[in-house]
Amino acid sequence: MSIKPRIGVSSCLLGHLVRHDGGHKHHRTVTDTLSRSFEIVAVCPEMEVGMGVPREPVDLVGNPRAPRMVGKRSGRDWTGIMRRYGRERAAEIGRLEVCGFVLKKGSPSCGPDRVPVRSETGTADPAGAGLFARALAGALPLLPVEAEDRLDDAALCENFIERVHGYREWRDHARAAPSLAGLMDFHASHKLTLLAHDERRLRLLGRLLAEAGNGPLEAVTTRYGNVFMEALKQPATRKTNTNALQHLAGFLSGRLDPEGRKQLAGLVDDYRLGRVPLSAPLALIRRHAAEHGAAYVLRQNFLRRPGSGP
Ligand code: SF4
Repeated sequence: MSIKPRIGVSSCLLGHLVRHDGGHKHHRTVTDTLSRSFEIVAVCPEMEVGMGVPREPVDLVGNPRAPRMVGKRSGRDWTGIMRRYGRERAAEIGRLEVCGFVLKKGSPSCGPDRVPVRSETGTADPAGAGLFARALAGALPLLPVEAEDRLDDAALCENFIERVHGYREWRDHARAAPSLAGLMDFHASHKLTLLAHDERRLRLLGRLLAEAGNGPLEAVTTRYGNVFMEALKQPATRKTNTNALQHLAGFLSGRLDPEGRKQLAGLVDDYRLGRVPLSAPLALIRRHAAEHGAAYVLRQNFLRRPGSGP
């Protein structure tokens, strides 16, 4: 397995000249920011099915829930070949251990949502997804997927990065020998992460595990994974991160002398007020937890958030 998680990216966003007109849609956040954290797997469905460059552009037509892909002028139907390709490529993406995907918005192949689907009478319904994006979602329903335009929002970009790491952690857990003890352990390590993202789902997952003895482990594991990845979709904010930091500080307070408690509370407050980055209080919490052997704190995945230091 690669050290950096892998993400898939629509090739045109990387500056590859694969668009129907021979152009690209280079997106700086992908090549400048995401490529520092992730190994990139480039995918251009239309090139990979042999449509070539330049090529006739295509449209989605018919039922928005099961649209066909046809040439804009010729009406040539690419639906069958693209659906078959999508199934096979999505399975390969799973084998490659890809942990997230950035897709080109609006594309009849790659667009994850809001892709216009033309009716037979010519009106457009904007509710569709591209055929490759559909295949990806069908094969890998928990895979974090984002359209490139949403990455321009720094909070959504950070959230995507966290979801990619969360997906990798969940996938690694889920493929190990399943046990209720293992699931409880995963939950215990992610409690503060969940608190920062979605407190309601944290409580839901706690109840799910408390009642887990009543049902089959496989069903509990599947439900846990679904809710866990849904929770991560809710972006953590300064306010919710502060709440998680205060929990950690509270946990440590009995082990710190008054000066240490004051310093930590001050740094958490500095973060709350936007004076220091999250990495600053996290580094201090890590140091105190290591010095005092605070196992519950040290195991928290929240301390190792992307970009928060070693
Ligand atoms: S949107 Fe998808 S199919 Fe279209 S050029 Fe980009 S990668 Fe290729």
